Amino acid sequence: MADKIYPYFTEEHEIFRQQVRSFCEEQLAPHADEWEEEGNFPRWVFEKMGELGFLGITYPEKYGGAAADFWTKVVFAEELPRCQSSGVLLSVLVQTDMCTPAIVTFGNEEQKEEILRPAIQGKKIGAICVTEPNAGSDVAAIRTTAVKDGDNYIINGSKTFITNGAKADWLTLAVKTNPQKGYSGISLFLFPTTTPGFTVTRKLNKLGHRATDTVELAFEDCKISKKYLLGEEGKGFYAIMHGFQYERLVGCIAGVAGIKLLLQETVNYCKERTAFKTKICAFQANAHRLADLATEIEAAQSLIYHCSDMVNRGLNAIKEVSMCKLYVGELGVKAARECLQLHGGYGYIEEYHVCRAYRDVMLGTIGGGSSEIMREIIARMMGLYS
Ligand SMILES: Cc1cc2nc3c(=O)[nH]c(=O)nc-3n(C[C@H](O)[C@H](O)[C@H](O)COP(=O)(O)OP(=O)(O)OC[C@H]3O[C@@H](n4cnc5c(N)ncnc54)[C@H](O)[C@@H]3O)c2cc1C
Repeated sequence: MADKIYPYFTEEHEIFRQQVRSFCEEQLAPHADEWEEEGNFPRWVFEKMGELGFLGITYPEKYGGAAADFWTKVVFAEELPRCQSSGVLLSVLVQTDMCTPAIVTFGNEEQKEEILRPAIQGKKIGAICVTEPNAGSDVAAIRTTAVKDGDNYIINGSKTFITNGAKADWLTLAVKTNPQKGYSGISLFLFPTTTPGFTVTRKLNKLGHRATDTVELAFEDCKISKKYLLGEEGKGFYAIMHGFQYERLVGCIAGVAGIKLLLQETVNYCKERTAFKTKICAFQANAHRLADLATEIEAAQSLIYHCSDMVNRGLNAIKEVSMCKLYVGELGVKAARECLQLHGGYGYIEEYHVCRAYRDVMLGTIGGGSSEIMREIIARMMGLYS
């Protein structure tokens, strides 16, 4: 309903919305429980999405993208939660909005042909590799190194919490080319996972997003050609930060769309379920709870569209997107708790979506920059520390 109130979407956007919605509901959602149980999902999901043109929405036509506007991306991210699997959703967003944007912005022709084109087609899967066992929020503290050796670089180190890491054909990899330096010692590489010395050391057993793999990786004397350096040496941190604004916003768009679905399911449940001969939603305490949630979701939606409008117009929206990530991440946790409580004991049972959602939402305040780091960015941009 809300999407009709906002002026941003054209008839073409709505046709695309129906296409994404039916794909998610008909072809992905029926498998969601099975993939959650297996802790994995098959590659055909990427291949099919590539065929449908979902993996290169805003990317240049020259490499197989659709060169569409950011609102088309908004539509895609809003419909994706209908697949009922946060794991699949996360894996797909890693491919579309986390490991490929840097190639589009900083990659050369050869890199775009070799890696971006098959990524858009869904034939090659990627991962974004920044976090290390001793460096999460503090990206400048990464220790994985790439040392120049003639026309090659030798990479040594380890990464952790890498989504898609076990199935990836290539990685967008952050390393130190100058370990003496902090931010300005970081460079980005496109790393083929067939490189000798590369291993997936451990698959992590995690709280939520279970249908996707999250792994630890090791790099032992991995020799890769200098042609895989992405952008300039020493400029990797800026490339990562550049991508964060975009990736965080897309994550928020999908996040709020997921919370909306959860609220709707909860409202439906509360209208059906009775206690003391009264519908659960007709107890004023519960009605007010649902009204509060609906209000906060609407506020989050407005913030998202405000940020999307800024991004669509090419404006710098770092502060606003950080606010969005903070607000949506915290709202997700609150909404899942409230919705589960309103389901009573049934909310505690896996058959109800709210049960899985309760586990999944915790990533929203941690992954891709925690709530504390978002507050830090906002506070700095408010000039509070200077
Ligand atoms: C399921 C999952 C998938 C992930 N996928 C990827 C991926 O694909 N690629 C990738 O590179 N990474 C990935 N991550 C890693 C994720 O981005 C990090 O977990 C996140 O950045 C936090 O880093 P950390 O876990 O090391 O926590 P830490 O940095 O150790 O932080 C611990 C706590 O301290 C707080 N804290 C840290 N610094 C400050 C500060 N200055 N002020 C106040 N509080 C602070 C944090 O907010 C947090 O609450 C994933 C993580 C998970 C759980």
